[in-house]
Amino acid sequence: MSTLVHPMPTDTPEVRRYNRIKRWLGISDGVIGFAVLVLLLVTGWTAELRDWAYRGAWQHYFLAIFLYVLMFSVLLKLISLPLDYYGFRLEHQYNLSNQKLRSWLWDETKGWLLGLVLGGIFVEIIYGVIRVAPQRWWIIAWAVFIGLTLLLARLAPVVLFPIFYKFKPLENDALRDRLTRLSERAGTRVRGVYEWNLSEKSKKANAALMGMGATRRIIVADTLLAGYSDDEIEAILAHELGHHVRKHILKGIVVQVVITFFGFWLTNQVLHFVLARNWFPDLEARLYDFANLPLILIVATVLSLLLMPAMNAISRKHEREADRYAWENISGIDPFITSMQKLADQNLAERTPNKYVEWLFHSHPSIGRRVTAAEEWAKSRQST
Ligand SMILES: [Zn+2]
Repeated sequence: MSTLVHPMPTDTPEVRRYNRIKRWLGISDGVIGFAVLVLLLVTGWTAELRDWAYRGAWQHYFLAIFLYVLMFSVLLKLISLPLDYYGFRLEHQYNLSNQKLRSWLWDETKGWLLGLVLGGIFVEIIYGVIRVAPQRWWIIAWAVFIGLTLLLARLAPVVLFPIFYKFKPLENDALRDRLTRLSERAGTRVRGVYEWNLSEKSKKANAALMGMGATRRIIVADTLLAGYSDDEIEAILAHELGHHVRKHILKGIVVQVVITFFGFWLTNQVLHFVLARNWFPDLEARLYDFANLPLILIVATVLSLLLMPAMNAISRKHEREADRYAWENISGIDPFITSMQKLADQNLAERTPNKYVEWLFHSHPSIGRRVTAAEEWAKSRQST
């Protein structure tokens, strides 16, 4: 079997510009959020918010926490809204979006509510634990966090994702049969393949593996099903199956377990250190004063920022493994390569991003690298 040599198209100035703006949007969003946290602490406004919350809650501790989180999340949302709106406009400018303003606003509202509910529950648990076990709170909070992470991973495809998108079982029988054969050969079973109604909102294409145990499934965007040949879709499904076979979701969770253990320990150390030195006089010396929430979030933000290159490197390794799995299990790499090129065109992805940008920000190897790796793999196959 011969493998065609595919010349790598270069990235147009339009593609470069789109990705540069997206990157700056992400960075600005992070910087502004971080600045708000620092400002709340330094000015003592966080203590002001806490006092309002207590008054509004008739001095009831847990109700006050909820009111504090509510005001906090309203504030953050209002501040980040202009940039979020700019992001919405950007997708339209580059003709990547099908979403109307109303639908976008509704998604923003739902996203904010979801964050408020999940964040609220978790903050309540943290300070509840701090109050009853001030010495060991961080271990208990970590264990609860892991439990919630596992629960959410399991619920994501059946509860969280459907809040924003519609799903239905894949109707294409030929494709389903192919995937069943692929997964039987791998000695594994994915519970289902679902069609993801992405076209309602976006012109981009995508596919993913998600869920845990009974909810484990592959989702394929309808935009992908519409524009790609069966061979190309099979190559993409084989990649997703590779994530399943190599247990990448589980491995990701194990990494989370280790990192968050360290993270909660560090948070406890920083809280004690800062409170003992009275750096922020408006905070009470007691750990359970929830006005110190911005401090906890600063520790979490700095830690995840420092770990971002490592986390992305792990993710890129998983992507390379899933690609390799796909090449080994489909008959010829051409559909893989053409599907990658189509994805790059359709999603305005950079084929050859700046090396440092990729290292720092990208969870996937660039399309350029993935295609080159596939060609080299095929060549080494032919020579043996
Ligand atoms: Zn992948």
